[in-house]
Formats: sequence, C-alpha cells, structure tokens
Amino acid sequence: MSEQIEQATSIAEHWGPREVLEWGFRTYGDKMEIASGFGVEGMVLIDIASKIQANFRVFTSDTGFLFPETYALMKRVEKRYGIQIERLQPRLSPESQAEQFGEALWSRNPDQCCALRKVEPLRDKLATLRAWVTAIRRDQTSTRATAKKIEWDKKFAVVKLNPIVDWSSQQVWSYVHRHNVPYNPLHDRNYPSIGCTHCTRAVKAGEDPRAGRWSGVEKTECGLHLPASTPLITISPI
Ligand code: SF4
Repeated sequence: MSEQIEQATSIAEHWGPREVLEWGFRTYGDKMEIASGFGVEGMVLIDIASKIQANFRVFTSDTGFLFPETYALMKRVEKRYGIQIERLQPRLSPESQAEQFGEALWSRNPDQCCALRKVEPLRDKLATLRAWVTAIRRDQTSTRATAKKIEWDKKFAVVKLNPIVDWSSQQVWSYVHRHNVPYNPLHDRNYPSIGCTHCTRAVKAGEDPRAGRWSGVEKTECGLHLPASTPLITISPI
C-alpha cells in the first residue's frame, strides 16, 4: 500500500460520504467507478455521486439471475441520473454453465457459481481501473466490520472506497426518503438484501437482514468483499 493511500485511509475516517467520493473523483477521475447491485445502500451512493458530478460511471454484475424488479430499477436509474450502467456479463450463459458444471450449480456449490458469475467478471473489470466504490456497511456482516472508508483492496490490487461504511440502515433509509431516491420495491416486501433469484428469499420478523441470502448454507458473501486471505475459488467444470 502506498504512503498516499495509507494517509488517505487514516484521514478519511473523519470524512462523510461526499468527501470520500470527492477525493476519489479528484484522485482517480474516470479510472474510478461505482459498483452496485442496486440495493438501497447502492442507491444512496449513486444519488450522492450524482450531486458531485454528472458523468460518474456505474457497473453491475449481471449474473442473468437477477429479479425483474432489479432490472426495472436499473432502467429507472439510467433515466433519472442520465447514465448508462455497464452490465458485466459472465463468460458462460446460464445454459452453458449448466452444460459444463451441471444443473442448478447455485444449490450444490454457490461459491463456484458466484465465482463464475460475479467474481470473475469483476476481476476482469477491476483490472482496468485504479479504484472502485462500494456501498457496503460495517454492520452488515462480520467480514465487513473492519472495512475502512478508503483502503487498499489487496485481493483485486485496486483502491476501494466505502463511503457509507459507517452508516446504519436507519441513516440509509432516512436519506432515501429525504431525497426521494428510487429503490427496489422488493425492500418493501421483506427483502432487506437482494441478490439473485435462486439465492434470495424474504426474511421473517426477527431474522437477521441478511438471513435471506444463501439461506440454509454457510455463506454470507458472494466473494467480492471477502478479505484477501480468502482464496478465490478455482473454476473447473465437472
Ligand atoms: S448469488 Fe446464487 S445464483 Fe447468483 S451467482 Fe451467486 S450462487 Fe449463483
């Protein structure tokens, strides 16, 4: 990690989301892009970015298995903010994946499925950038608890900005209502965290907000935000 990043890591802990994003735009220009899965946190981030500069860039992992509501929200975002979202595609279509790795890989080996459909396309994308911005929050999972507002992402060898990492869910929602930010209607139907249709369910009263992701298996992350010490899974067909 360079001295400049080390300094930024420490100073940025006193900054708000806008200052973190401004630093990123100033330092990296168009070599910094926002990653979003269009959850409510990502929507806040996009809205804040739009108030700093008009031509910010957003990309998403389009696994081919997203909810219709998510695809519809992406179109709304493009219209409202005047941007073109880049949809990262896996190398394999759902059909080719089934041929090479067997049917319903997500139910037998979700780590491998996420590696193919999310991590690999992201790794290719990040190889073209110097910095990426995410909307993770520290209280979402134990692996996110130590994330900094600006940090060196060893796993992908780029700088990672997490401008709302210290926000609570309540802060996120109050921003959304105050600024009339569009959001996925599934959030109003007990889906606090939204991923692929195969691996997301609504949560019941009293359940952890992320209990609806990969329900029934020991998995809490798709692999994009895991520490560098977690090896990227090997992708080999059956
Ligand atoms: S979330 Fe599920 S369906 Fe989506 S890429 Fe990961 S394992 Fe596959």
